[in-house]
Amino acid sequence: MWDRLLVDCNLATMDPAVEAAFGAIENGAIGIQDGRIVRVGRRTELAGYQAKKVEPLGGAWVTPGLVDCHTHLVFGGNRAGEFERRLEGASYAEIASAGGGIAATVRATREAPLEALVEASRPRLKALMQGGVTTVEIKSGYGLDIDAEAKMLRAAGLLGESEKVRIERTLLALHALPPEYRDRREDYVRLAVDSILPAVAQQGLASSVDAFCEGIGFTPEEVRAFFAAASELGLKVKLHAEQLSNLQGAALAAEFGALSADHLEHVDEAGVRAMAAAGMVAVLLPGAFYALKETKCPPVELLRRHGVPMAVATDCNPGTSPVLSPTLMMSMACTLFGLTPEEALAGMTRVAAKALGLADEIGTIAVGKAADLCIWRIGRPAELCYWIGLPGPERRIFAGEDA
Ligand SMILES: [Zn+2]
Repeated sequence: MWDRLLVDCNLATMDPAVEAAFGAIENGAIGIQDGRIVRVGRRTELAGYQAKKVEPLGGAWVTPGLVDCHTHLVFGGNRAGEFERRLEGASYAEIASAGGGIAATVRATREAPLEALVEASRPRLKALMQGGVTTVEIKSGYGLDIDAEAKMLRAAGLLGESEKVRIERTLLALHALPPEYRDRREDYVRLAVDSILPAVAQQGLASSVDAFCEGIGFTPEEVRAFFAAASELGLKVKLHAEQLSNLQGAALAAEFGALSADHLEHVDEAGVRAMAAAGMVAVLLPGAFYALKETKCPPVELLRRHGVPMAVATDCNPGTSPVLSPTLMMSMACTLFGLTPEEALAGMTRVAAKALGLADEIGTIAVGKAADLCIWRIGRPAELCYWIGLPGPERRIFAGEDA
């Protein structure tokens, strides 16, 4: 006898093995046992199975739990004051010279004790969860020294232990140059490669690493040294690449068998080819594109043509993407970047799971996967992208339990 049997519902399984748009199964049913999906199909195919709890869902649509594969949601303070000052006419340069920008977030994050950092970040995580997220990736990158980077990753771990959500942690040591290293960038890169990275790996605080490869970030050579050391330590890599310019970061990431390259507004065909050959995911971040009022879109048609799967994520961060709504990102991915609703939902489920190396565990409604599900009161799956600011699902199931 199963634990739960969901009936009287339509399934957007997002499973490519189900030959229909959205992998849809109308009038479907899902059997759940020990937190996993044990059977999926039409209601008639699951007739005769018994469960402790049979739950009719009144014709709702069920999707996989949403996967947010790129966030920076652990940080101290926020930058709402700067946002206000900028709209009152202050320039970026004025704000930066007054100690604002990323330096302000680094300062607030370093100053916050671990518990305070956890509690400051919890409402942001809760908001994403209420939006339907059941797995979220969280990056460090506002500590920029051994202790503060480890503290950020510990905070992410504590959030995962105390909330019904899966957390994947990423060390983003090459995010920005910390103020005390302003005139000694080689020294900071050496600190990241020789000290921060091994300390984080040794304590098991992250499963992957990331870097910001950009004119205002780190050079391809600096990123290469960091990735080489991370690969030696058995950590996966991913990269903020081609957001503001083309430094051939996607191709660099591909050399290291990266999980993904993220942003990609300025990627060219050579970069896309390299990503395709390496089996990488393109993570698209419409929130940052919107907040920065960018005009150059990532080359969606080129990515499609080369078969590079596209994920969509919030990039939740205090500076360039203070986004708390996964459904808004699916909407923006369609409206701003031209994804189809099916591509956008795949981008926050199946493809996002692949971007985290968790394709066998989550991301579709299929036998053997974790029973992470969202139940939506909608008439068709495209509504998830059509409404601008759709609140979260009616119900969320995490590892087989209501959450
Ligand atoms: Zn980011």
